[in-house]
Amino acid sequence: MSYISEIDPDIAEALRLEANRQDYKLNLIASENYASRAVMEAQGSVMTNKYAEGYSGKRYYGGCEFVDIAEDLAIERAKEIFGAEHINVQPHSGSGSNMACYFSVLKPGDTIMSMDLTHGGHLSHGSPVNFAGQLYNIVPYGVDKETEALDYDALMAMAKEHKPQMIVCGASAYSKTLDFKAFKDIADEVGAYLLADIAHIAGLVAAGAHPSPVEYADFVTTTTHKTLRGPRGGMVMCKEEYAKDLNRSVFPGIQGGPLMHIIAAKAVAFKEALGEQFKADQFQTVKNADALAKELQAREFDIVSGGTDNHVMLLNLNKFDITGKEAEAGMSKAGIVLNKNTIPFETRSPFITSGIRIGTPAATTRGMKEDQMKEIAEYIAEVVNNLDNDSVLHGVNSDVEQMCSGFPVYK
Ligand code: PLP
Repeated sequence: MSYISEIDPDIAEALRLEANRQDYKLNLIASENYASRAVMEAQGSVMTNKYAEGYSGKRYYGGCEFVDIAEDLAIERAKEIFGAEHINVQPHSGSGSNMACYFSVLKPGDTIMSMDLTHGGHLSHGSPVNFAGQLYNIVPYGVDKETEALDYDALMAMAKEHKPQMIVCGASAYSKTLDFKAFKDIADEVGAYLLADIAHIAGLVAAGAHPSPVEYADFVTTTTHKTLRGPRGGMVMCKEEYAKDLNRSVFPGIQGGPLMHIIAAKAVAFKEALGEQFKADQFQTVKNADALAKELQAREFDIVSGGTDNHVMLLNLNKFDITGKEAEAGMSKAGIVLNKNTIPFETRSPFITSGIRIGTPAATTRGMKEDQMKEIAEYIAEVVNNLDNDSVLHGVNSDVEQMCSGFPVYK
């Protein structure tokens, strides 16, 4: 920090405040995590200075011999973790990873069947405000109204009716285990490519805490910064037969120079992901989510689809007669950071919503376990039941700070 303080005190101060926020606020944002110091060291390293268009051993720039080491290691380790035939670690983001897959095998106007945003899907799966929704004909699927879970028979019927060229599975807010074999059967039935976007559950998949789609899907995309706990970025895995097309789609198709410092950090994160501590943390993340969901249900909360099998859950707040936006604001006053979220069959706008999304990866990385989940459920209930009572919210904030100080993010 000393160099920044000298050169740019304003940014140094913003960084100090952000580090303090991360330490003393309770982060329940399901898509966030805390990268290790080793990962951050690689991100803030000399590799940021290097242009390396192309791929390892075949670059358009000289001087790539050492960044090649980083990219080769990232790929090798990711293959060891996920067992994929081919891996591209260059995508800058999860959205870019999905784009690279679409561009590899689809043409504009083709049909993609994917999960609706309001049912848990992601923008890049085909929202009308996203390139995917603008370039392709999107057939959105959702969860069953009764069970609030996917109905694979209904998906099969939809696929037969619409005959998509690609089916996308994977979500940003779906708490049930995904049946990748069932998706593969549906895709095969209609001759569609299958893309599994495991951005949210990649860490769980890496550890064996969620089934892997790698043997079933033609393409598997992920971000590297959520449960996988690496630097902010993306990655694509695919069958060998698509390797050339995929690589061409990433570079020169949609990107120029890869972020070699980020790729080095991905390699570090993957090394960590091969270790025992990472595996234990992923299983604990799932146990924590299950414990938190049950504690919340005991306090009268409705969990969409009745509970969680993974790291995330959606709370339907309709029973409390408050919106997701109001709940998010109240939580913020109480030191709890989470996001408002649409729920299946949502009636409100995405800026208001009827739900909130809660995830346990970040809390688990800092060492919290079932005992803390019980306390957190109590805090959430206090906030929701006292949204207009600032003194209660400030009281919860003090308790949250106290709890967080026992679990420093960086020890
Ligand atoms: N796919 C899923 C399922 C996601 O949840 C997200 C991000 O939240 C993405 C893709 C996109 O990742 P990025 O924000 O890196 O573009």
